[in-house]
Amino acid sequence: MNIHEYQAKGILRGFGVPVPDGHVCYNSANAREWAKRLGDGPWVVKAQIHAGGRGKGGGVKLARTPEEVRDIARDMIGMTLVTHQTGPQGKLVKRILVEKGCNIAHELYISLLVDRNTSRVALMASTEGGMDIEEVAAHTPEKILVESINPLVGLTAFQCRKVAFSLGLDGKLTSKAVSLMQGLYQAFVSSDCSLLEINPLVVTAEEELLALDAKFGFDDNALFRQPAISDLRDYDEEDHKEIEASQYDLSYISLDGN
Ligand code: ADP
Ligand code: MG
Repeated sequence: MNIHEYQAKGILRGFGVPVPDGHVCYNSANAREWAKRLGDGPWVVKAQIHAGGRGKGGGVKLARTPEEVRDIARDMIGMTLVTHQTGPQGKLVKRILVEKGCNIAHELYISLLVDRNTSRVALMASTEGGMDIEEVAAHTPEKILVESINPLVGLTAFQCRKVAFSLGLDGKLTSKAVSLMQGLYQAFVSSDCSLLEINPLVVTAEEELLALDAKFGFDDNALFRQPAISDLRDYDEEDHKEIEASQYDLSYISLDGN
């Protein structure tokens, strides 16, 4: 099961992972109100669909005034957004996230996933944030660092410092990175995740670390014990045949073609 970015950021906040202030909105008037409530601009308006690549597809836009937030929201809600992850038919945007824009100094990549080769959770990190990690893996695999996590010990501070060092972070940022990574690991384990990807994780001009995008994948076999996460399910984002199959506990995956 997947969730929206604003829901993912809500979970991360609960684990002490720094994310920009923001709020989900369903109409343009509400988007303008929330921009004002969030404080000074600029703001970023982000389409909430279960697919990445929104930036390149026109689903992430910068606004300088609350009125601009409203106008962008008006255009974005109801549009069909096509990205390299949605397929040519695209996805209808029904919700947007209005959040504070930040001054990005550089973009990094960090993720946790279940590594089937080692039967362990692995932490992956790269200096090539904001890009498709599949592309980085294909062309410059040396730019990806993988740390395998011992389930009995958990993610150690030593491992986090090693990753922070490989990301080129300095002393002050390293301690922030260690607590951020440990927050991510806690979120991953407590929520029965199969994937937790922060792309990009940014270093701001003010020397802060922020998770600017967040993608969660949950283990469907554990949803029975994760009622709070099951409640985040958005049926509009799923294939109707797969929804029906899931009601009968079937692992059914719709394919293209006829
Ligand atoms: P996607 O991965 O779907 O393209 P992201 O959330 O990663 O969407 O956003 C794409 C890009 O937009 C980011 O790499 C970042 O450069 C920029 N961006 C996103 N959110 C913010 C924000 N709050 N402030 C400033 N820039 C942002
Ligand atoms: Mg992203």
